Amino acid sequence: MQRPIYLDCHATTPVDERVLEAMLPYFRESFGNPASVGHFYGWEAEAAVKLARETIANSINATPEEIIFTSGATEANNLAIKGVAEAYHHKGRHMITVQTEHNAVLDPFAYLESLGFEVTYLPVQSDGLIDLQQFEAAIRPDTILVSVMAANNEIGVLQPITEIGQICRDRQILFHSDAAQAIGKIPLDVMTMHIDLLSLTAHKIYGAKGIGALYVRRRNPRVNLAPQLHGGGHERGMRSGTLYTPQIVGFAKAIEIAIASQVEEQKQALNLRQHLWQRLRELDYIILNGHPTQRLAGNLNVSFSNINGQALMLALQPIVAISSGSACTSAKTAPSHVLMALGHSKELAYASIRFGIGRFNTFDEIETVANHVVMTVRSLQHDTLN
Ligand SMILES: *Cc1c(COP(=O)(O)O)cnc(C)c1O
Repeated sequence: MQRPIYLDCHATTPVDERVLEAMLPYFRESFGNPASVGHFYGWEAEAAVKLARETIANSINATPEEIIFTSGATEANNLAIKGVAEAYHHKGRHMITVQTEHNAVLDPFAYLESLGFEVTYLPVQSDGLIDLQQFEAAIRPDTILVSVMAANNEIGVLQPITEIGQICRDRQILFHSDAAQAIGKIPLDVMTMHIDLLSLTAHKIYGAKGIGALYVRRRNPRVNLAPQLHGGGHERGMRSGTLYTPQIVGFAKAIEIAIASQVEEQKQALNLRQHLWQRLRELDYIILNGHPTQRLAGNLNVSFSNINGQALMLALQPIVAISSGSACTSAKTAPSHVLMALGHSKELAYASIRFGIGRFNTFDEIETVANHVVMTVRSLQHDTLN
């Protein structure tokens, strides 16, 4: 069996060979626990973690002490949001986020609502961007945290992070951003963007699954966080648990490669995406979801009217690995909350495809996928119209 073409890079990416090579020694001879301060094995692992921490910090213009390793962006988001709520509840109990955030942001906020916090879920405009005036109007004297993602995982839209950061800084409100999709793909600078907390993950940029980080600002202002995992007091007490040396080393390598090749790689992704879009526009009744230019280079998200979304996915499955306009949370399939927030009907949200183009995709693959999608959609639209 031929494996389908992989175009689901917002879900995860394969580990880059260079990343794997960097990781391997830390599974084998250099397997020590970085917290073992009494012998060589510990020092060796500790040195590797230290170097990785510096690389990751530099990549976002932070300092190494501001990087807290976590199991991924889900945990980083939980630590940021619940950690701030617990540490600052005496200052206020109101927080602001956006309807199109990842569930790893929305669910911690929903949990906090159950504890008595108030959360404003900002709507988005039809292009997926928030309205800055509406955002400013939502700020209250008791607002303690704003959380807005840098790049959306479904429609690729890039929110105006610098402007949001400036508004938060002026009002002395902490600003968290989920950058799981943005790291390595667009420049991120926690100083110029006034970001106080930033969630990162490795597996969307050719690192391993199960490793991520939370940037926590230490100066101007110093952010306090209530830890969510208690134990040996690792990561300056903010996140206990033995550090995963191989994953951490690989995470740093993945960021290093992504940043070194960012311009070239994003240019290639943009070319492929533009070609795919040009081909798909041959179709009638196709809608581009999200802002046409203010989006990740490798992201294309489209909806088809007059079509059964499930039939489309079934027909494309053997050819291409893509994601549909539905979110499979546990067992049930619901229409994507992101597409619904753009104002789509349920039917249109179901009849949607997210293409995530990455480092290893080729022009020929895009051409093959385009041919299949055009052919399949035409035949399905024909069926429904007759
Ligand atoms: C993938 C993703 C997450 C979850 O990250 P994990 O490291 O898999 O926990 C969170 N937010 C966004 C925007 C993502 O794309």
